[in-house]
Amino acid sequence: MGEKLKKTDAEWEKQLTPEQFAVTRRKGTEPPFTGRYWDHHEAGVYRCVCCGEELFSSTTKFESGSGWPSFMGPAQEGSVESEDDLSYGMVRTEVTCAKCGAHLGHVFPDGPRPTGLRYCINSAALDFKKSK
Ligand code: FE
Repeated sequence: MGEKLKKTDAEWEKQLTPEQFAVTRRKGTEPPFTGRYWDHHEAGVYRCVCCGEELFSSTTKFESGSGWPSFMGPAQEGSVESEDDLSYGMVRTEVTCAKCGAHLGHVFPDGPRPTGLRYCINSAALDFKKSK
């Protein structure tokens, strides 16, 4: 991945809705079954709501029952980064946008085959673009 995109909180706040800011720049979590994409089934790509980078594809989206959009993997290797997250007394792996560092959600080792991974992502961190 090339150059990182850096902006100040004030710049992000201007560009994002309060919910998008809380999730992506403050590691927030939208309540389950409330976001735009948990029950969304069109073909296309899910971009980072902050920087526009392609992060996930509808081709790897699956029904997890969690109330958050769930994917078996990122759009491309290197689109997202992951890091241990020990907050709230849980051991989880946080997923961020490799380009701008936006908090996206977490990845869990209980996904379907072939990857066995479940990327549990906030709708508020994503911007869907339909395939033409
Ligand atoms: Fe981004």
